[in-house]
Amino acid sequence: MKILSVNAGSSSLKFQMYEMPEEKVLISGVFERIGLDNSFYTIKINGEKVKKEADLSNHDVAVNILIKELLENKTIDSLDEIKGVGHRIVHGADKFSNSVILTDDVIKEIEKFSDLAPLHNPANISGVYAFKKQIPNAVQVGCFDTAFHQTLKEDRFRYAVPDEWYTKYGVRKYGFHGMSHKYVSQRVMELLDKDLANVIVCHLGNGGSISAIRDGKCIDTTMGFTPNAGIIMGSRCGDIDYSIIPYIMGKTNMSITEIDNQLNKKSGMLGVSGVSSDFRDIDIKIEENHKPSILANDLYINSIVGYVAKYYVELGGIDALCFTAGVGENAPHIRRMIVDRLSCLGIKIDKEKNDEFRFGKEGIVSSQDSKVPVFVIPTDEEVVIARDTYDLI
Ligand code: ADP
Repeated sequence: MKILSVNAGSSSLKFQMYEMPEEKVLISGVFERIGLDNSFYTIKINGEKVKKEADLSNHDVAVNILIKELLENKTIDSLDEIKGVGHRIVHGADKFSNSVILTDDVIKEIEKFSDLAPLHNPANISGVYAFKKQIPNAVQVGCFDTAFHQTLKEDRFRYAVPDEWYTKYGVRKYGFHGMSHKYVSQRVMELLDKDLANVIVCHLGNGGSISAIRDGKCIDTTMGFTPNAGIIMGSRCGDIDYSIIPYIMGKTNMSITEIDNQLNKKSGMLGVSGVSSDFRDIDIKIEENHKPSILANDLYINSIVGYVAKYYVELGGIDALCFTAGVGENAPHIRRMIVDRLSCLGIKIDKEKNDEFRFGKEGIVSSQDSKVPVFVIPTDEEVVIARDTYDLI
């Protein structure tokens, strides 16, 4: 059965087509700069990547070109072969704890959460409408970044703010990156050959979050009401004292929108290092003994170690510690710095093995005498979308 896994952003649309249940990727690609000048797309098929320029005025046009490419490349002979389209949807609020078939009523329900994710949900939904229009016979499925964290209990997801902020306005921890945390925690349980296990997943990318997972169910996570909470990220501040905001507004006359923009896009590794949000650029500066980059790195490690230690205690010990996403999968020195700080818990890295595991390699990087195995597991959010879509069909 052929299933498309789709991630529609405001100016991009990523896709992978799977043969299910084999989970074989038949074709993948990304449309970029939708609605902007110089738009283009890249398609990857049989290991070959082709880039083409195209006028992509909106998601509809991109989906139309995608369908033409599928037919021209003979990935499909007719549109009827596509039985399902699974869409990544950032926010499902507290209404969706699982992936769901996108009926008109469900879409209306999701549109109500646009306030909670104004940059993401409307774009995700315009992708849904484009596919619904052009592949009407396929089952459309919504897979939420928040769903995996819906197992958090109230004593973990509530903030100590006036009750009405929660009951009336939905102010609570939602958590994000759910599909990645789900994929990695399921995969590590397979590798451990266990149905019951306590796992900490460190999703360290440009955005970053850590989750505490007991027997496949998330009990706590670092991102909060928005993805800005928790650990320090590429350009996001992570946890800060909220009083900084009115203080800086008073000092600078910046509007709340400007402050929000600075905390989201100009903070984190970029803000402290003054160099970049990309860890590869910061590493180069650290080699040159650039003090702000060294400090940014130290703050980053501290913020991660603090949460791993907290979740270790919350879980009452762990069966595995996992690293995933851009930094977690490709930066052995960051993994080493984190694990070295966890030696009091008996968790130890094998330096040589750790250096080997990069660029998509999956496996154990801890030493033989480590109390807990440490895994590197390349994440795969697209396959989670394809699996959930297949299961719902
Ligand atoms: P997101 O999905 O949040 O955009 P990714 O998980 O793709 O992010 O991670 C991207 C980030 O991973 C880059 O910004 C960079 O900081 C980091 N990264 C990627 N490759 C490496 C590497 N070889 N060494 C260090 N950091 C890397």
